[in-house]
Formats: sequence, C-alpha cells, structure tokens
Amino acid sequence: MVERSTVSSCNPARPDDVVATHPAGTAADVDRAVAAATAAQKVWARIPVPARAEVIAAAGAVLAERKAELSHLVAREAGKILAEAGGDVQEAIDMATFVAGQGRAAWGATVPSELGSKLCWTTRQPVGVVGLITPWNFPVAIPSWKIFPALLAGNGVVIKPSEHAPACCEAFVDACVTAGVPKGLVQVVHGFAEPAAALATHPGVGAVSFTGSVPTGRKVAAAAMETGPRLVSLELGGKNAMIVRPDADLDLAVDGAVFGAFGTAGQRCTSTSRLIVHPDVAEQLVDRIVKRVGELVIGDPTDARTDVGPVIEAAAGARIGAMVDAAVHEGASVACGGAAVEVDGCGGTFFAPTVLTGVQPHHRIAREEVFGPVLAVIEVADLDEAIEVVNSVEYGLSAAIYTRDVNTALASVDAIDTGIVYVNAPTIGAEIPLPFGGTKHTGNGFREAGTRGIEQFSEVKTVYVDYSGHLQKAQIDNRPPVQGGGAGR
Ligand code: NAD
Repeated sequence: MVERSTVSSCNPARPDDVVATHPAGTAADVDRAVAAATAAQKVWARIPVPARAEVIAAAGAVLAERKAELSHLVAREAGKILAEAGGDVQEAIDMATFVAGQGRAAWGATVPSELGSKLCWTTRQPVGVVGLITPWNFPVAIPSWKIFPALLAGNGVVIKPSEHAPACCEAFVDACVTAGVPKGLVQVVHGFAEPAAALATHPGVGAVSFTGSVPTGRKVAAAAMETGPRLVSLELGGKNAMIVRPDADLDLAVDGAVFGAFGTAGQRCTSTSRLIVHPDVAEQLVDRIVKRVGELVIGDPTDARTDVGPVIEAAAGARIGAMVDAAVHEGASVACGGAAVEVDGCGGTFFAPTVLTGVQPHHRIAREEVFGPVLAVIEVADLDEAIEVVNSVEYGLSAAIYTRDVNTALASVDAIDTGIVYVNAPTIGAEIPLPFGGTKHTGNGFREAGTRGIEQFSEVKTVYVDYSGHLQKAQIDNRPPVQGGGAGR
C-alpha cells in the first residue's frame, strides 16, 4: 500500500466535508513521541496512584461537560447516529469513573507467609510507555478504555488512532490535558500502517495494545514478536451469533436482532451477524424482522430521526456488497436490503439493512466478519446443532441465546465458546466494570475494562519482606526430604 503524506478524515455521510487533516506520521515521528512520553512518564510514575486517579476522574468531568460537542464530532467523523455517538462519549465518562475508583481499590494481594516474621504481597508497576493502535468505530470510547488504565498504572502513552477518526482522538486527549494530564504524557501520532508498525516494534515501548481487525492484529502481533514489547494485547473482530429457541419471547428476539444487527450500521465488533434459529419459528421471526427493518430510517447520522447511518467509506460499502453477492451465489436469498441506497442530500455510502435467509454454516457470509448491516439466518434442527454452529467460526467475541427455559439458557452459557454471552439480550451491550474480550482469534487472552483492564498495561511485582533478623529458608529448602518424616517411607 502506498503511504500518503497527510491523513484527512471526512464525514462518512458527506465525504466532501473534511473534518481534520494532519501530516501522516513516520517512524521518526514515533521515535520522537516515544522519547517525549518517556520523559514525562518518569515524573508521572512518582505521583501516588490515588492522585493519578483524581486526574482521571477530572478527565471524566471534562468529557461530561463537553459531551454534546464531542457527540456531534463522533457523529460527523465516524458516521454514528447521535444517540450512539453520545453512547461512545458516555462510555469514556463511565470508564474514567470506574478507573478512578480503581485508584483507591486493591492493587495487589497479600498472602500469609509460610515463615514467621515475613510479609508477602504483590504490587503493580508501570511498563514505561505503552503503544496504542485503535480503530475508528468507537473513536472516543476505545482510546479511553486503553488510556485511562494505562495512566492509572503510571505509564506514558503514544497512540496511533484510526486514520478515519483522528479528530475524535485529539478531542479526547485535549479533554485529558485540560483536566490535568501532563502535556507530553499522552502523545498522538496520526497516520496509516507505517507509524502503527513502528510503534508495535519500538524498543522503547513496554506494551502494545491493539484493537482492530484480525488480519491487522496478526501483523501487529507478528511484528511485535521481532523487536517490540513483550506485552501485546489484541482485541479483534467478531462473528457474533444469536440463537433463538422455539420457546423464546419472539417480541424480545425481534427487538434484539434488529438492534444487534443494524445498530451502528452493523459496525460494532459485537454486532449480531448470525441468527441461528429453529425451523418452527424461523419464518415468523424473519418476517417480523424484515417488517421492522422496513420501518428503520436510513439517513444523516446528525438527524435525530435517523436509525441507520452510513458505513465508514465507499470501499466498505463495496466490500459488504461483494460479500452479499457471494452469499447469493452460494445459495442464500435476500429477504430485504442487499445493496447500497441513495440518501437525498448525502453523498456517503449507506448500505441497506440486509437479511439473508437460507445461509449454510459453511458459506463465507456465515464465517467471515462483515462489519456492516447484514444478518445471516441459519436454520438448525436442535440446540446441539445451534451451539455447534455458534462455535464453528474462528472468532469468539459475543453470543446470545433467547429462550424462556432456564436450563437451556444456562447449559448454553456453559457450551458457547465466546468471551461474552447474553441471555435474552442482544450480542451488544457490554458494561464497564466487567471484562470485555473474546476467545479464539478474537484476542490473545487479555481482557479490557473491568478490574483486569489494567493487566495489559502493568507488570505484577511480588515482594517478600523478612523482618526476623536472621536467614529463614523457604519451605522447599528446610523441610526433610521425605514427607511425614517417617524413616523408610
Ligand atoms: P483495522 O484493523 O483496519 O485498523 C485498526 C488500526 O490498525 C488503525 O489505526 C489502522 O491505521 C491500523 N493499521 C493498519 N494497518 C496496520 C499495520 N500494517 N500495522 C499496524 N497497524 C495498522 O480496523 P478498523 O477498520 O479501524 O476497525 C474495525 C475492526 O476492529 C473490526 O474487525 C472490528 O471487529 C474490530 N474491533 C474490535 C473491537 C474489540 O474490542 N474486540 C472493538 C472495536 C473494533
């Protein structure tokens, strides 16, 4: 790919509306940013954790004051409808509150020693500077999920935000600086693959945290293995499924499917992309979903009446269209949608909410992330087959089951191999205090948010303090060689 010299984001609904232009960063810019963040981090790391937490809480307050303005920016730069753009900002505010609280919560464990006059505990230490690479679809929330815990842990930050949403990241960092985050501690480098790859392999970076697609995440992880940081956390794509059992409350299932599949124009990592349904209710469910889709307003995301906004760029629309065409070629039928539609007065790409029936689990549309408003309906004979289909893909982010039977619900929670499972709720709807992330190729074992969110940005240090005044040997060195002490045993 040819690297461009500037990064220009534009309004996905009106591509002529340029939101921000920055020089595209190079490896040399990353060097400078890492050096500056390293210098600032040395001072920041000496500030007590609760005092760092107060600055993070203040950042949450500034974000709250600026919520309306920031929400408009998210809608304009990322094409999210206003309600969802507000949710993006609210998530950052909530994350500030949660992470600030962690600054006065347990920071490690104390463990009774096997010896007298000895203390044992764990604490956390910063890794230095963390390198963050983020996608466009939660352009305020995702930087907050990474930057706040990284700062609480005592790190400096260099972030390479998505080329589609540089202004949202700048606005987020500006709120942090206004609240008292030292200037220089959080560095932003804009651009495409070059600065991101340089960040992932930089010897001065202690941890890299990447959120984005599986193919890019694989490149980041492989590159980081060469010269980069040891701590590499990946939050990647999903192929999220909703099972609807014959006993389900179908009103609830229709609401969940429409919101899960078509909210944010299907461009959430947790968007519902497969509907796995029993033949007894399939036709009725599809008919009702299609009817509801017909009532959705597709349009300008800044118009409060709009339900479904644009996809991020024309290339995304072309990719989604090609996947739908391939599905039809493989034998699926289009129940509604299936192509891009024109919206008066907007030159962006709007893909019609699409329901595909007759999809088989081996079809490409049933296995690959679409990242667009497309719901593939797969009929299955029973619960075992439903679970098998849910688990048959390489992704493992989120899944949902709709049923009124508590045994079915809980057995499914056990059997579904994803990081997040919902019962009688759609595949989207994560809450801040709980861990967020997925199994299989969706990630590499880390979780964001919750109390574990800090793990990707800190190292655990185990501390022993012996105040006995003489050499005490640990159990492995002072026990007799034979357990129980009995001779001959
Ligand atoms: P993307 O993978 O195209 O880009 C993500 C980031 O990687 C961007 O900043 C981009 O500039 C950078 N990048 C591009 N090439 C690179 C390279 N060679 N080396 C290093 N970095 C490079 O993703 P996107 O289109 O911005 O976002 C959509 C994807 O993100 C979807 O797959 C979605 O599921 C996923 N996502 C996952 C989560 C999660 O928490 N699991 C959350 C949001 C989005």
